[in-house]
Amino acid sequence: MSDFKVTVLGSSSALPTLQRSTSSQVLRYHNRYFLLDCGEGTQVQMRKYQIPFQRINEIFISHLHGDHFLGLPGLLSTMNLLGRTEGITIFAPAALVQILTTIFKATGDRLVFPFIVIPLEMDREEIVLEDETIRITAFPLNHRVPTFGFKFKEKFRRLKVNVAAVKEGAINPIHLQTLVTGRDVELLDGSVLRYKDFTLPPPQARVFSYCTDTAPFKGLEDYLRETTTLYHEATFLMNKKERAKKTFHSTAADAGKLAQELGVKKLLMGHFSGRYNDSKAHLEEARLHFNQELFAVEDGLDYRVS
Ligand SMILES: [Zn+2]
Repeated sequence: MSDFKVTVLGSSSALPTLQRSTSSQVLRYHNRYFLLDCGEGTQVQMRKYQIPFQRINEIFISHLHGDHFLGLPGLLSTMNLLGRTEGITIFAPAALVQILTTIFKATGDRLVFPFIVIPLEMDREEIVLEDETIRITAFPLNHRVPTFGFKFKEKFRRLKVNVAAVKEGAINPIHLQTLVTGRDVELLDGSVLRYKDFTLPPPQARVFSYCTDTAPFKGLEDYLRETTTLYHEATFLMNKKERAKKTFHSTAADAGKLAQELGVKKLLMGHFSGRYNDSKAHLEEARLHFNQELFAVEDGLDYRVS
């Protein structure tokens, strides 16, 4: 099983269909679960696809269109009913605070666990969460209301071992433990083991970016630099380009071109308009521009972050 993967809970735009629920994904990195958007019905999808509710400590809401957040009050209520005590941090446009406060005041539900909303207001890429294992940034998109994308970059705590050098130097395993963290070791006789002599750079970091909803715009590629797996909306096909422009959405061709320009390893497309019965044409259209791994995502499936 991969230690970095995304489970798609909803891949439809605006209207849920019998096959596709509205936007939501769970990104799993080692033992952490991040929820990305929370369209109506997300908690049912989580049950269906066996996502452990209470393991989610951070939620990222791209924007306040109903198909991306209307499931949130219900999910929080359920967590409460299940006896959650651990806090939740929600990264979202600022107006969400008022919405949730009004709902919980009117319903009389008193949430036992604390939740904080970190308001997203940036006009460039900014770090919103960073620790020793992951760095998460948010950046503005180009939609009808304030909308944000998110980028998740893995961080390595350890360098790779240079096996040949370690063998030749007969390095004590205890010293090796220090060297792989990027620190030199001073021995009792005053000599120094340099970590650079016994280690190799870590493997290329995997970076997952979540990019929905947005019309293409100049500068987006700068926010998405380093991305290795890109989730990008592809609401329409090129023959509905005018409609895409009007509603500030993208086409499958837009997603394919951007992914190719960025040089990502994998492109995941979703947020398909309900007018399409299947996603074959989206794949064909994006394929004209993008030559790496390509998927039109389906609810309930896992996609490895490459
Ligand atoms: Zn939207």
